[in-house]
Amino acid sequence: MEKRTEIDELGEFGLIERIQSKVETYNPETIKGIGDDSAVIKSGEQVMLVSSDLLLEGVHFDLSYMPIQHLGYKSVVVNASDIAAMNGIAKQVTVNLGLSSRISVEAVDKFYEGVNSACKNYKLDLVGGDTSSSPAGLIISVTAMGVADPKEVSYRSGARDKDIICVTGDLGGAYTGLQVLEREKQVFLSNPEMQPKLEGYDYIVQRQLKPEARIDIIHELKELGIVPTSMIDVSDGLASDLLHITHQSSVGARIFEDKLPIDQLTYQVAVEFKLDPITCVLNGGEDYELLFTISQGDFEKVEKHPDIHFIGYVEKDSKEVGLVTKNEQWVPISAQGWNHFQKD
Ligand code: ADP
Ligand code: MG
Repeated sequence: MEKRTEIDELGEFGLIERIQSKVETYNPETIKGIGDDSAVIKSGEQVMLVSSDLLLEGVHFDLSYMPIQHLGYKSVVVNASDIAAMNGIAKQVTVNLGLSSRISVEAVDKFYEGVNSACKNYKLDLVGGDTSSSPAGLIISVTAMGVADPKEVSYRSGARDKDIICVTGDLGGAYTGLQVLEREKQVFLSNPEMQPKLEGYDYIVQRQLKPEARIDIIHELKELGIVPTSMIDVSDGLASDLLHITHQSSVGARIFEDKLPIDQLTYQVAVEFKLDPITCVLNGGEDYELLFTISQGDFEKVEKHPDIHFIGYVEKDSKEVGLVTKNEQWVPISAQGWNHFQKD
């Protein structure tokens, strides 16, 4: 009998590595293929960056609490974020849709209101796509294309010894926001008369429903003359995404619990849900902040930046990646995201 391996055994990242190991490239213009936030393709004096993401109903979103215009917005943002994660600026997007019979023309209009609003905010041009019917719920796939100077591209693999690990904004909000939305959905399902109670949770619900890509940071770093030695956007969670950087850079890393940026509401809601706030920060995901490393020499230039947090540093000789807790304990960071094929 032929061997059958379940996808769960490999996990999402194992499967991608397997695909990557069997791929050959035939064009010298392909500078970076599979394995980073975007592909990097030589285009004259510049490089073109390309990134795709797939969003499936029932896996990545639930239309019972995700307004469809937000879904349009988010599907563009997550791709613009992957271009930013290469230290590039997204310029164009294509949008592919698989539409189930539940989706009306008016719903498609609303979806494109969100797409167009994201395109306006990020100065992106929607240049094409494809449309089909779908027997299995709404399917959205967006591809973003961007540009960068080849000398300024930040790969996951560039982290060097003693580099400072930086993260923008705050983390864990999108995850705790999702917990609130799921709870209100359960309340609504058990009693449709009940209206969801989202007051007071605005910030974290917004983090889940309408995230933003940190293009602002890319522009600011450029103005400051900083090229991050490595970079990734936080889509799977800080732990998993930091491991992508350390793994691909062949380095270890040490981050500090008391340096992790967490919003007060995120903290409160984590406690309300009996979750450890630090676990939400480490494994939450979907915050679309930027995680990057800079060389020590660049530290002074960003030291006072209100939205960049210095959470630790790279250690070349150690192959370990860990968190130093408030009481000085070393907790190894494991790849929580590694085997969540079902979730992602
Ligand atoms: P991100 O979270 O930044 O979107 P992913 O983990 O989705 O990154 O993807 C990592 C890398 O694997 C990217 O280079 C992506 O293009 C590539 N990749 C993912 N799925 C496939 C696939 N089915 N075939 C080829 N490449 C893939
Ligand atoms: Mg990414």
